[in-house]
Amino acid sequence: MAKKEFKAESKRLLEMMINSIYTQREIFLRELISNASDAIDKIYYKALADEGLVFNKEDYYIKVAADKASRTLTISDTGIGMTQEELENNLGIIANSGSFAFKKDNEAKDGHNIIGQFGVGFYSAFMVAEDVTVVSKALGSDQAFKWESQGADGYTIEPTEKDTVGTEITLKIKANTEEDNYDEFLEEYRLKSIIKKYSDFIRFPIKMEITSS
Ligand code: ADP
Ligand code: MG
Repeated sequence: MAKKEFKAESKRLLEMMINSIYTQREIFLRELISNASDAIDKIYYKALADEGLVFNKEDYYIKVAADKASRTLTISDTGIGMTQEELENNLGIIANSGSFAFKKDNEAKDGHNIIGQFGVGFYSAFMVAEDVTVVSKALGSDQAFKWESQGADGYTIEPTEKDTVGTEITLKIKANTEEDNYDEFLEEYRLKSIIKKYSDFIRFPIKMEITSS
């Protein structure tokens, strides 16, 4: 499958993310959980308005699963999902999203405090991952699609299998370097404390599953 190129701005942002301009890499999890929560909100409000759609409260949740053996961290949601076009448009083109929108009133503030405030969005996953795979099935669609990227040189999209509507984002966590520890993003206590710090207000349950098979 041919690799598609990111738009120029997206490419620059990705390069910055990959080279981690931020000291607080942990915020990638806040970004992915907030996207998951937004996606569940969308399906939730649709279900409220549409009598043909029946959902139970237990159907709405976010799952954070780490597998130490494969060095993968998976954030999945039972949200509205994305079609092939939406994967292309939302994840391939930075201009389409609110990502990286520095607010003017933040510019004057001390750099350290700013970091936690603005949304850096989906691409922040590349601060901790060498490969990002998004498998998604949109509400009302029979076909699921897989978006995959190793960074600034592009992404692929292809049809795949997924039983349920929603999105599953798998991060292949980078290997540790002399300066940087990435293993911590596969540790339950660390993931729990990041979630508590940034995602405490999320109104859907966040389930956690750690395996080291
Ligand atoms: P923002 O959330 O500010 O729009 P992001 O970079 O975080 O920017 O996400 C870009 C877009 O990708 C979102 O607006 C949304 O349309 C789509 N998206 C990201 N994650 C998900 C998800 N888990 N489920 C459905 N759509 C998603
Ligand atoms: Mg977002």
